[in-house]
Amino acid sequence: MKRFSILIAALCLCLTGCGKQTTEATAQIFAMDTVMEVAAYGPKAEKAVQETEGQIKALENQLSRTKADSDVSRVNHNGTTPTTGLTYGTRALLPAALEYRDATNGAFDITIAPVMDAWGFTGDQFRVPEQSELNELLKHVNSDEIQVQEEPSYSVTLGEGQAIDLGGIAKGYTSDLVEQTFRANGIESGKISLGGNVFVLGGKPDGSDWRVGIKDPRNESGLAAILPLRDAYAITSGGYERYFEENGKTYHHIIDPTTGYPADSGLLSVTVVADANGPDQEWDQPGNGTMCDAFSTALFVMGEKQALDFWRNGGYDFDLVLVTEDGRVVITAGLADRFEEVKDSGYTYETVS
Ligand code: AMP
Ligand code: MG
Repeated sequence: MKRFSILIAALCLCLTGCGKQTTEATAQIFAMDTVMEVAAYGPKAEKAVQETEGQIKALENQLSRTKADSDVSRVNHNGTTPTTGLTYGTRALLPAALEYRDATNGAFDITIAPVMDAWGFTGDQFRVPEQSELNELLKHVNSDEIQVQEEPSYSVTLGEGQAIDLGGIAKGYTSDLVEQTFRANGIESGKISLGGNVFVLGGKPDGSDWRVGIKDPRNESGLAAILPLRDAYAITSGGYERYFEENGKTYHHIIDPTTGYPADSGLLSVTVVADANGPDQEWDQPGNGTMCDAFSTALFVMGEKQALDFWRNGGYDFDLVLVTEDGRVVITAGLADRFEEVKDSGYTYETVS
């Protein structure tokens, strides 16, 4: 039986390889605290996947909060640009982080770092801080105090007592650069999943849409909805991704900057969907992957009503899938004609415009 399945696998490889003149390369990478899966199809698939792996490692080294020599750690340690300067990822991401902070009225704010530390989410020493401790730390949560100067030379200066955490956008930005890497290698069909962050280029090798599953926050192995997508980002934030329990209560890693507590807005997850950046994107610039990542975190903090207001009036082009605590899956108009319900998931489905 075993020999038989190996044969089948080899045969399939030959059929796709010879029949369509396309090669497949896949890899599983553990980075940024999550399992990442990449698949690319095309004559340069292997090179694309190798470069993607290199890209992910490079960005992790720049943006990590736990690596002592990352750009972010050095900025946090010095309160300002390290003498060695900053690498492209940090330079490009900081202005984007500040833009999204303003756009979301502070629901997304990278100066949440000291509060993340207090809860123990930066290492793994989880604890529930006193509200008085949080109130002290919250005084420093305000990105308006960060100064970024791009000319004549790039510099960043944090406010007194501040530290930054790019964990809410690092994976989205990474997916932006993976799109670039795929395109530079002529990949027409590819997919990367960085934890809950998905980017798909083109359709599947057989021409059909990629089917992106939205995890069921209430059931680890189930799905709440399926999105058939091509050339798109679909980035999810959910309290179920990282949390701890104490005295029967669950505390997760997405913090409401107004309270210092894990956001408790009635949402279980937020998925933000937007178009691929396309071939004209400047190679190191944040694009829709970064936007989706910032907004998935921010809209999870805001809750359903504010999130939908922001979708309607915020001035950015994206769609949403919200999974609510009371068992609904809310889908915005741009996805209404394509999302697929999951039978027996226990959710009711509604579309909004
Ligand atoms: P995500 O999974 O994209 O929602 O990102 C969650 C991560 O973003 C957390 O692990 C923190 O590193 C960071 N974070 C948590 N709360 C916020 C917030 N309100 N604004 C910006 N970043 C946050
Ligand atoms: Mg995010």
